[in-house]
Amino acid sequence: MNENKIATDDMNYDKILREIYKEVSPLFNQGKVVQYIPALSAVPASKFGMAVCTLDGDVYTIGDTDERFSIQSISKVYALTLAFKMVGEDMWKRVGKEPSGNPFNSLVQLEYERGIPRNPLINAGSLVIADILLSQIPDPKHEILKFVRKTSGNSDIQYDNAVIASEKITGHRNMALAHMMCSFRNIYNPVDDVLDVYFHHCGISMNSIDLARSFMYLANHGVIPQSNEYIISNSRAKRINALLLTCGLYDESGDFAFRVGLPGKSGVGGGIVAVLPGKLSVAVWSPALGPSGNSLAGIQALELFTTKTGMSVF
Ligand code: GLN
Repeated sequence: MNENKIATDDMNYDKILREIYKEVSPLFNQGKVVQYIPALSAVPASKFGMAVCTLDGDVYTIGDTDERFSIQSISKVYALTLAFKMVGEDMWKRVGKEPSGNPFNSLVQLEYERGIPRNPLINAGSLVIADILLSQIPDPKHEILKFVRKTSGNSDIQYDNAVIASEKITGHRNMALAHMMCSFRNIYNPVDDVLDVYFHHCGISMNSIDLARSFMYLANHGVIPQSNEYIISNSRAKRINALLLTCGLYDESGDFAFRVGLPGKSGVGGGIVAVLPGKLSVAVWSPALGPSGNSLAGIQALELFTTKTGMSVF
């Protein structure tokens, strides 16, 4: 392994991905597949897929990259992008931009901070984003799905209704967060409608290739490279990437920045997606999670990727 390798366009991604797969597979048994969403609890821990999409249009894959999985909290980034487009800097009156240092579904800080979530990537923050979307557009669920289909270039991406139904039954913490923010007057729409939007976007199902593609606008300063379609300004793409770097992996964000050195977002389905602005996006899926709810092998795979390629934002 050459730790000082300089980024070049003739990087042998296929070889690097093969090495990564081999090196991370011992971790598959060490984490735990998410249990609190019953519909996801039986996903095999041995699944692994990794996809790299470059701005040149190349795609490199290894493992189960054709298989769809539940993207869960990764979807918060699409909702955030849509809301940011609609309300701009006014968004920061209702949600902060600091790391929480707490679990993604924590209630404690929210009480102390009077119903203003630390950032839009923890559950409370994303519930506020869902509320903002409900106030702005008639059908946020439709718009979010449309957005994912557009940014990934795959018009067949769907909601997984079994996962959504499962979360609606067991999502008591999310219900508590939404009601608490309602009591602080930071949720304006009916709580059930807000939760419905939130559970739906968490229940988007897609594969690692689609996931990597759908984040290319953040690797390309706000423009979808495949279609050249403008999504958000360069400055706002920068701000979203900054939030991914500081808050994208919850209370493990510092460790992720230290080990991987890329803006990224995780979900309890075991997916993580990261971007290197100006160059590429990379998605990985491995369902066994560590204590913070992030994929164990997924983080390790991304650490190996940036170490072996010498590519990171630093
Ligand atoms: N839908 C999940 C929840 O609300 C998302 C959590 C996650 O992926 N970290 O608990």
